[in-house]
Amino acid sequence: MLLFLSFLISAIISNPCVPDGRQLARQSEEEFFDYACRIKLLELNKEESEASVRFIKDPAEPLTPYLETLHGLLKEQLTLRMGHAAKEVSRDFLDQKVHRLMKIFLKDKLGLQKPVTPEYDLANRAKWDPHFHGSSLFADHFPKARLYLPNYEEAYAYIKFEHRRLEDRSIFIKKAMEEESFAKVTEVCSSYDKWHIVHAGKRMIPILGHKKVSGAVDRHDVWGYDVCGLEEEDRYPSQKAFFESVQGSKVVRMHMGETIVPAKGREHVRLLLDEAERYYTSSKPLRIGHGTHISIEDMIRVAKKGYYIEACLSSNKRTGILDKRSDYPLGVMLVLGVNVVIGTDGGRLYSTTLPEEYAHAVRNLQKFHAKLKNSDAWVLLPNGDCLCYKHILPLLREENKKRGAERLEEGVTYKQLGAVLDPSVLERISSETLIQNANVLLEACYPSHSR
Ligand SMILES: [Zn+2]
Repeated sequence: MLLFLSFLISAIISNPCVPDGRQLARQSEEEFFDYACRIKLLELNKEESEASVRFIKDPAEPLTPYLETLHGLLKEQLTLRMGHAAKEVSRDFLDQKVHRLMKIFLKDKLGLQKPVTPEYDLANRAKWDPHFHGSSLFADHFPKARLYLPNYEEAYAYIKFEHRRLEDRSIFIKKAMEEESFAKVTEVCSSYDKWHIVHAGKRMIPILGHKKVSGAVDRHDVWGYDVCGLEEEDRYPSQKAFFESVQGSKVVRMHMGETIVPAKGREHVRLLLDEAERYYTSSKPLRIGHGTHISIEDMIRVAKKGYYIEACLSSNKRTGILDKRSDYPLGVMLVLGVNVVIGTDGGRLYSTTLPEEYAHAVRNLQKFHAKLKNSDAWVLLPNGDCLCYKHILPLLREENKKRGAERLEEGVTYKQLGAVLDPSVLERISSETLIQNANVLLEACYPSHSR
């Protein structure tokens, strides 16, 4: 076995005939995945391991054959994920994204990821993981799914395929649930919409994974709909027919703003809100999955409407949506009164848990508070939006309002923001607000499950 592995390593690394990802992608998805697995599972020799550590510290280091191959593979995966939008991005933009993903991958591979101290108390008090995809329960059973990342849709498709091949499905489901202990209430969606299982004290709520790009739904046997897999990088598909078909008190989550190219996600959320304003009539608050690249203007719109945004920090990092978890604009959202909640997006797939996600959220907010004290940088989002006085006028201390009104179009620095905000606004930039939001959302969506 060892002999075979070392042969494989040297064959892949030294053989100039090894096809690059692009060639394979043209052949078939299966072959491409086989290739990706081979590259990602390769055991590194001492030299390659040391080079990987150097690369993690400084991506400007010259690439070894393995790193070169990995670079090509991840670049191809990202390009596939972006579709047509890949043609619009600069080489530097793409390279930087690839370097980030290489670092994450290599840290995992070499066991260098620094663990966070999970915030169990916060996760327990939140009572549930509001953004969770049922299929991810099985990522531990089919760990190869993680090798598909950053292409999460393919990862989910792989899990579903493998899961369907199992003979005794119900025993397997129960076993997986026994092992899960992150949330008391779990929404399960995608193809497992028939799930309605109360097991080991966990309450499972089936919602329908809805993937049709546009069109009506009409189901009486589910609590609601999780609309995912429709946001291509470069295109917003109209949701008019879907919104119009949602009746009464169905729960609705739309995945939007989860794009590699920030400007695209920003635009998609705007279009979604335009349509929701006209056609969404469910009595439940609309839930926006990720919303990562939402504009500041639209944050204000979401806050006014009482909609919810479900932030999944580790998922965004592992799929190349954000460079760092702390880039997610949690602080700005809380300042503007957006109902933002923390989810895992299917923790097992992204090697995270709800308590760990709360730990990352706490860190994100600590960094934000530190900047409010001592940073002279503009309050800028990854999508390029700058927070201005016009956005925060109603949130200023009384004595700052007149001055703010004279500078409406001017940008605000973090330090200025910290100095002019009303104390009650500063106070809500905290994990307590995140927990409160999660509790209120649970009660609003599933009153019978929230106690
Ligand atoms: Zn999701």
